[in-house]
Amino acid sequence: MQKGDTQALESKLQADELLKLFIDLVAFDTRADFSSNDKPSSIGQLRLGAYLLNMLSRLNLKPVQTKEGVIITKIPATSGYEKAERLCLLAHLDTAPDAPGNDIHPSLVVDYKGEGIELANGNVIDHDLSPDLAHHIGEDIVVTDGTTLLGGDDKAGVAVLLYLIQHLVDDRIVHGPLTIVFSVDEEIGRSTKYLDIEQLDSDFAVTIDGCERGELDVATFNAEGVKLTFHGLVVHTAVAYGKLKNALKMMAEFIAALPQDEAPETTQGDQGFYHVHDVLGNVERAEIMMILRDFAKDGLARRHSVIEDLVDQINTKYGQGSCEALFVQQYENMEQVLKDQPRILDYCRQAYERAGVKVIEKKVRGGTDGANLSCRGLPCPNIFAGPLNCHGVYECLPVPSLHASFEVTKALVELVALGPDGSNVPAGADD
Ligand SMILES: [Zn+2]
Repeated sequence: MQKGDTQALESKLQADELLKLFIDLVAFDTRADFSSNDKPSSIGQLRLGAYLLNMLSRLNLKPVQTKEGVIITKIPATSGYEKAERLCLLAHLDTAPDAPGNDIHPSLVVDYKGEGIELANGNVIDHDLSPDLAHHIGEDIVVTDGTTLLGGDDKAGVAVLLYLIQHLVDDRIVHGPLTIVFSVDEEIGRSTKYLDIEQLDSDFAVTIDGCERGELDVATFNAEGVKLTFHGLVVHTAVAYGKLKNALKMMAEFIAALPQDEAPETTQGDQGFYHVHDVLGNVERAEIMMILRDFAKDGLARRHSVIEDLVDQINTKYGQGSCEALFVQQYENMEQVLKDQPRILDYCRQAYERAGVKVIEKKVRGGTDGANLSCRGLPCPNIFAGPLNCHGVYECLPVPSLHASFEVTKALVELVALGPDGSNVPAGADD
């Protein structure tokens, strides 16, 4: 079994500017923090933000940082391409809260042989744990020491955009008007709340976020959150007969009545689910926090009414007002928006082809920033940035995937500049 080599990484960085950008970003601990109400939720995101502002300013750009920490940089079109469609590209600064994100020790597995990788702490990434790893035999792969995540989700995306910007400022890449966004707190579902569609001022957008080489995310779940509150009645147990109502029992009944074969652990592919993720309570009052997910709108509506029916059943049994549900709309499937306004997906498909990357169109069993942006009027699919096993200590980044992400993004920028039929050449270009 192979191991990561820090020396090998050092020497590779001498000749690989994009990888160097990525490794420099990994040093910032930007883990998002659910429990914080700060904007952004962690100081590390501001530290990385300051680093990027400095870098962008040195390139004579004028980045703007919003009060939430989002960095927005407008890049004017190459002369003659001002009329091209306006493209927005996004990546997020934060990393997932699921695994430690500080003191990351990256190293390089050189020429992966296909027999698994032993991390420095003894953890092993093999093909059972990470089936996608089998696609990367013969490639160099960045890993951690097994105690932290790597942060490729989404610093790989951030690095790709920084590298792109470096190539844009000297017009090595023909481009129309571009808006580059480094968002914050994506991993805790807050990022798009901090984005103003008007300010992005674009015809369409693409997120460069996570996942395996070739992936193009074209659909997401429709998503609703539900908070259920159960109201009991406390009576001393000595005299409780016929009077006491136990909110904990109502809660347990409710959970038991949910369709058991429609949970995240029992569904896959196109199937939606119900998922209880938090409970708290005592006899007097209990709460359930849960989520509903479905690719189809009417499927989500059906799940919504199943919950309402269960609430009615509890109320019929224990008395009106014993249970109440509060529904929160979270995000919508972007699939229909992208079907209705297919231009950006067409550009993406062409960009993969131009970059020589086989496209794998995928429905994400989750949400993306693009889902929210699409449903707010800015069509926004997601393209891969390359990391595997995101959000945990087995995260790794095949180096060719990072480069492929850059090549696709670069091709996309050029194709959008040239227009849908490739005919948008600047006036006077053939004089
Ligand atoms: Zn991400």
